[in-house]
Amino acid sequence: MSGKPYLQLELDEHSADAGAVTRIEAFLDSLRFYEYNSPMKEFSPSSQSLSPMKRTIFIPNMCDHAYAVRAAFERCGIKAEVMEEPDGESLMYGKRFTSGKECFPCVVTTGDMLRKINSPGFDRERSVFFMPGADGPCRFGLYSQFHRMVLDDLGYGDLPIYSPNSRTSYANFNLKGKPFRKIGWQALVFVDCLIKSLLKTRPYELERGSAERIYYKYLRKMEEYVIKDGSLRELSEEAAYEFANLPRGIMALPVVGLVGEIYLRNNRFSNNHLITKVESLGLEVNLATFAEWINYTSYTFKLNSISKKDRKGLIKAILQGYIQHFEENKIIKCFRKYFSIDREEPISHVLRLASPYLPIDVRGEAVLSIGKAIDFVHHGASGIINCMPFNCMPGTIVTSLSWKISQDLGDIPWLNISYEGLQGTGEETRLEAFVDQVKNNHLVNQKEEIA
Ligand code: SF4
Repeated sequence: MSGKPYLQLELDEHSADAGAVTRIEAFLDSLRFYEYNSPMKEFSPSSQSLSPMKRTIFIPNMCDHAYAVRAAFERCGIKAEVMEEPDGESLMYGKRFTSGKECFPCVVTTGDMLRKINSPGFDRERSVFFMPGADGPCRFGLYSQFHRMVLDDLGYGDLPIYSPNSRTSYANFNLKGKPFRKIGWQALVFVDCLIKSLLKTRPYELERGSAERIYYKYLRKMEEYVIKDGSLRELSEEAAYEFANLPRGIMALPVVGLVGEIYLRNNRFSNNHLITKVESLGLEVNLATFAEWINYTSYTFKLNSISKKDRKGLIKAILQGYIQHFEENKIIKCFRKYFSIDREEPISHVLRLASPYLPIDVRGEAVLSIGKAIDFVHHGASGIINCMPFNCMPGTIVTSLSWKISQDLGDIPWLNISYEGLQGTGEETRLEAFVDQVKNNHLVNQKEEIA
């Protein structure tokens, strides 16, 4: 907020209008004599006053896609570093500087930032934190503002936060004349394909750790290729070839689709290593991709441009969607030349699947989770996990609709699971019971197919 006054209102279903109106009036009244002097300029990588050569962009380590973003920054001549994965120390800092009402990813990312600030050698004059934003409908759009308030309170008002917004599907990176978006997109799709390949091989590997060896080898190579302008298409074929030739068992395991809030489903620390736990119980996991969110924001950018009659925005959004689709298909095709990973359905299809349960006007992750869950089942999943932070707004919507969706999908086993940084035996017991249901459902389906 950079020193700006703000009003924070907490409302629930019992709140009456009068109290809120009085507070808003009092707040507006208090602004009459206020003069705003910004303590610092907005960060822009291309701005001259804060030369990018001087500052390193620290990227939160939500998942391995962070390395794709780092490589794309480096390719454009901007120093960037992926922060260490969140851990107990991040949580300790995060919990100390939040009130307990924030979303769990906000707590973890706040903690990561403070852990970095308190690490040896941290130089506030040569650093900037990366925290993308959104316009809503949920609290994600406020993370960067919240981080700003924490930094200001701790005396780091001069430390910038770099926060491109989803309004234009992250087109406003302020890197004019650089191919950042295109390169970053190709690298993100590459990492999605690598993850798909890992999840399709790890549960079957004959030598423990062999699938991850290939995965990390190509994750590192991806960074090299992106920075040095190598061909990600060639690298895709190379990686797929190695995965295809990995010695592994042949018995097909039941597949479970993993959907839900993007941070939680991807961040292994925050979801208590959910994917490897499910794999160790004898299932294969199909994870909703990272690219899905970017494709969705391009789609909503298009819808917003139509409703605002913004022709320029509409042309931009259509082009963006077309190029993304084209580039995504190129990389997937190269993987599929040697290894059978699933293609992605267009976002319009995913939203259509969700529409009987939730109108597309309810923006955010709920429609995506519902549509993708149905898509997974149509592609053979025998169960669905909806993973979310405790109290997540879209996650709660999905949970409340899940019983009906599961019923409509032939009573498919469906687990809604939320996390808030605690470890408990209850989680393991619920997972075991769910996996049991999935295995039974898989067996029944197999018998029906044979009959
Ligand atoms: S999706 Fe859920 S966890 Fe993420 S910001 Fe929105 S409410 Fe919070």
